[in-house]
Amino acid sequence: MPPAIIYDPSQIDFDKPGKHHYQVAFHLDSSWGYSLVPLTVINGLRTGNDTLPAGVVVFGGTHGNEWEGQVAVKRLCHDLDADKLCGRMILIPQLSESACRANRRISPLDNVNMNRAFPGNSRGTISYRIAHFVKTRIFPRVRVVIDLHSGGNEGGFPICTSLHPISNSEQRAEMETVAKLFDTAFVLIYSSSMASGLLSDEAEADGKITIGGEFGFGESVDRRGVRHAYEGVKNVLRHYRMLPGDVVKIDAERTGEPRLVDAANLDDYVAAPRSGVWEATVDLGDEVEQGQLLGRLHNFDDHAASPLEMYAHRSGVLLMMHFSARIEKGITLYVIAREIGKIA
Ligand SMILES: [Zn+2]
Repeated sequence: MPPAIIYDPSQIDFDKPGKHHYQVAFHLDSSWGYSLVPLTVINGLRTGNDTLPAGVVVFGGTHGNEWEGQVAVKRLCHDLDADKLCGRMILIPQLSESACRANRRISPLDNVNMNRAFPGNSRGTISYRIAHFVKTRIFPRVRVVIDLHSGGNEGGFPICTSLHPISNSEQRAEMETVAKLFDTAFVLIYSSSMASGLLSDEAEADGKITIGGEFGFGESVDRRGVRHAYEGVKNVLRHYRMLPGDVVKIDAERTGEPRLVDAANLDDYVAAPRSGVWEATVDLGDEVEQGQLLGRLHNFDDHAASPLEMYAHRSGVLLMMHFSARIEKGITLYVIAREIGKIA
């Protein structure tokens, strides 16, 4: 039998010991029926810690066509054992369930981007109502919020975790520590000015230890991305002593520590100045020098014309790049981040 359908979210018992799977029903706006959002709540049965550790929530499928997080969280729903866990774990593998089923970034039900719908609205369209559920029913019950993304069908990323440049230094330091537990090559500090209404904006404002990340791209299931996401969450549980054992190394091939890189300024998100076909001359994760050729934008309306060449505005690490050939004017073509040191 599939998990029980919960029609009234106030009926979910977030304190019930053991592991429990649910489908939370959010009514459709257009017809009779529901989007059934999968939810697993685990209240660990293992005792031994003096104090009950921090609760953790992990989201996949905030964007529907980003699959690594969905797969990793689904596996955690299945694999995590309440007998071995201490404290509360909440897992939502497909937050924008309708977008996931459609393999789209945004929900086809209301054309709303779930990651712009926060803090939500109890009387809004379906994405706003799901966001409101997260804000009012999930966030108050956890200390750590993890939202697993990937590049969908737009941006390619080297696998990274991410956080905003928030001002509270204690919260920021703990966020850097937790971001590092995913053992990705890069931890990205990204701009708060790019957009508003993010799940992470709201969680940070609530004082949560909030981690995002990009675990692949291209509407695929990158096996390395899934490994970093899955094992990274388990490392977070080990770090907070919710699971026994020490934090493990995830990427055996990489010798260095995760590098902290900063793209907090909008100048570092370079838009395509015109539409075209993008021929990159560098790879994701490359070190680039100011003035270096990064690629050519071709216009096939005139095959005899020179392409528009794009040069790096500064030195740094290529942390994101449009990966499909065609790009429309104004869409972000690449991001150059600056290394700002190691994480303590
Ligand atoms: Zn995303």
